[in-house]
Amino acid sequence: MRALIEAPLLVTAPPSVRYLTGLVSSNAALLVEPDRARLFTDSRYREKARGLGLEVVEVPRDIYSGLPEHLPPRVEFEAERVTYAAWSTLRESGVELVPRRELVDGIRAVKEDAELAAISRASAITNECFERLAEEPFAGRTERELAWWIESLMHDLGADGAAFDVTVAAGPNGALPHATSGDRVIEEGQTVVVDAGARFEGYCSDCTRTFATGWLPDALGRSYEVCLRAQEAGLAAVRAGAAGRDVDAVARDVIESEGLGDLFGHGLGHGVGLEVHEQPRLRPESEDVLAVNGVVTVEPGIYHPGLGGIRIEDLVVVGDDGPEVLTTFTKELVTVR
Ligand code: ZN
Ligand code: ZN
Repeated sequence: MRALIEAPLLVTAPPSVRYLTGLVSSNAALLVEPDRARLFTDSRYREKARGLGLEVVEVPRDIYSGLPEHLPPRVEFEAERVTYAAWSTLRESGVELVPRRELVDGIRAVKEDAELAAISRASAITNECFERLAEEPFAGRTERELAWWIESLMHDLGADGAAFDVTVAAGPNGALPHATSGDRVIEEGQTVVVDAGARFEGYCSDCTRTFATGWLPDALGRSYEVCLRAQEAGLAAVRAGAAGRDVDAVARDVIESEGLGDLFGHGLGHGVGLEVHEQPRLRPESEDVLAVNGVVTVEPGIYHPGLGGIRIEDLVVVGDDGPEVLTTFTKELVTVR
């Protein structure tokens, strides 16, 4: 961090504090200076923080009220990560605040070996979940019931827990790109979008597959083929040096050329690490460039309102010549009971 800053840097986003210090907490701040680093946290995390071999300063639970007296006159902060309320408290104390963008997040985008190992484990757990899920009956069960079945299996397989709420979205509900699992009973002849990821040693995985419960309407069957072609084209474009927006465009072109562009509204993918959505971004307005050992998803979707949705998502490690795909579950359309 020290090589990248011009003034002392105040880091407050919990995942970034964890990344730089190892402290898992909901309330801590790290001040990085040229010759020292101080970790500020409240009494709940004091003992854990002291075990990290850093200089620890205990502050009140309202961390920003206790910080100013320890800060130098001029401080850089993470513009995307500090709330207006926190910014106001610091400013009222007379500290000069210099916004920096995507600083720690930029470093976090490139993973080290231990991080890649944790993500691979999280991904292996998710792979096993999908293998076993494909053997389960779907029709007649609720989305919520299957979602919980997946989440408890993650625990059984050694995950810290789910990286995010598991989505099981059947029929029309699957046409919502960010559907939540509800009490809808899964019927025959529908698509069921399942989006799930495990967390292992703090690191996330992320995978989506779309299952069929019997014979699908033509529009969905055809869209599945198009989505799969788009996903494979996007995957083939992932390599170090590629722009996030260009990878997005490769996949998007496949869907648009079939006249289905209006049904794919979200970005192609996102970085995954301590957070399930982080840098780099693969979407039309992204300025990000992929780097070796970045970890990203490739997840085009086609959503037919009122009918059903399709999304296929792999998690990959960026390499010089292409991706290493961590997701192993088949991308052929699987028909479940
Ligand atoms: Zn996902
Ligand atoms: Zn995702």
